[in-house]
Amino acid sequence: MKILVINCGSSSCKFQLFETSTGDVLAKGNAERIGIDGKLTYKTPGKEDFVCLDPMPDHKVAVKMILDALVDKDHGVLSDIGEIKAVGHRVLHGGKYYSKSVIVNDDVKRVIRECFPLGPLHNPANLTGIEACESVLPEGTPQVAVFDTAFHMTMPPKAYTYALPYELTEKYSIRRYGFHGTSHRYVSRRAAEFLGKDYNEIKIITCHLGNGSSFAAVDHGKCVDTSMGLTPLAGICMGTRCGDIDPAIVPFLMTNENMSPDDIDVLMNKKSGVEGLSGVSSDFRDLEKASRAGNERATLALEMFEYQARKIIGSYAAAMGGVDVIAFTAGIGENTDYIRAHACEGLEFMGVKIDPSKNDGVRSEAVISADDSKVTVAIIPTNEELAIAQETEELVK
Ligand code: ADP
Repeated sequence: MKILVINCGSSSCKFQLFETSTGDVLAKGNAERIGIDGKLTYKTPGKEDFVCLDPMPDHKVAVKMILDALVDKDHGVLSDIGEIKAVGHRVLHGGKYYSKSVIVNDDVKRVIRECFPLGPLHNPANLTGIEACESVLPEGTPQVAVFDTAFHMTMPPKAYTYALPYELTEKYSIRRYGFHGTSHRYVSRRAAEFLGKDYNEIKIITCHLGNGSSFAAVDHGKCVDTSMGLTPLAGICMGTRCGDIDPAIVPFLMTNENMSPDDIDVLMNKKSGVEGLSGVSSDFRDLEKASRAGNERATLALEMFEYQARKIIGSYAAAMGGVDVIAFTAGIGENTDYIRAHACEGLEFMGVKIDPSKNDGVRSEAVISADDSKVTVAIIPTNEELAIAQETEELVK
């Protein structure tokens, strides 16, 4: 089945067209600078990349340009737009309402809109993308919303509630929601499949370590805890996000640095994390280079990231009363052997033993724990777009 996957931001629209029977990407690209000027980059395997600089005043025009490119007689991959059987949309926030992906109808759009305050940067753009596709694709083409939060909705109240006055928690739906859910779901299922284990019988910790990093404790196929919170700022320190800090630091800085709520938001989301800490970069390749060259703050940033990762792995094993599988994924989790090794260092007491000969330099799906390790540690590359295409297909079939 041909499924188009759309990931809309406020001024961009990333897309991938899948043939789900093979998992092949037929075409992919990005419409950027929507509302500014417009740049469509379009790639198909075996053909030259194509760039179009026609104006893109809004998302509807951008989606129309993507669809036109897909049926273009020179670089297109479809003879008719009706070949697209459904569109899967990445949607950041489904609030507490959706624990699964859903076919979009008016109720779903209302909920995505209700969740604007919870995902102010993403949800409005996600809804715009859905409405643009509805208006440009043949009538009746199903649109599916795949929520970043959905997989985490199985968490128990003790894991998702914050100890704030209960009336405020209820009034604003303040709670831990968690993000990267599509990745945690895909990686935990794939880990079980890859290792020949029954997904519903084991305890898995998934470690999605990328620009944004999050962890999930998946107990017998259900997420029971995750490290991101009301927003994707919580958890371990990330590229530019501070992660968990003493909340009292917020009023302290506001008072002493004369900062507004917006200033604090920018500081904690864009100027902190390993970049703010090291003064070098948010990219772990740059940090590694700087650390090797003797930059102490880069070394500290790497050590903090590894230490915080290890503490979360340990705490999730405690939360689930054990762990059978630890799965590393995303840019850092898939590519950086020393982070995987250090995040598991000292966990031998709970049966975690990495085999350096299986871990060093490995970047693809593999077991990296020793044969006598009680806990199996693995690299499981994530593929959020394919996961969205597969979930979309399951729903519309
Ligand atoms: P996101 O999707 O959240 O933007 P990614 O999952 O692509 O992020 O991860 C980005 C991070 O992964 C980069 O900051 C970089 O540090 C790290 N990374 C990506 N590729 C490599 C690589 N080949 N070697 C080492 N680190 C890498």
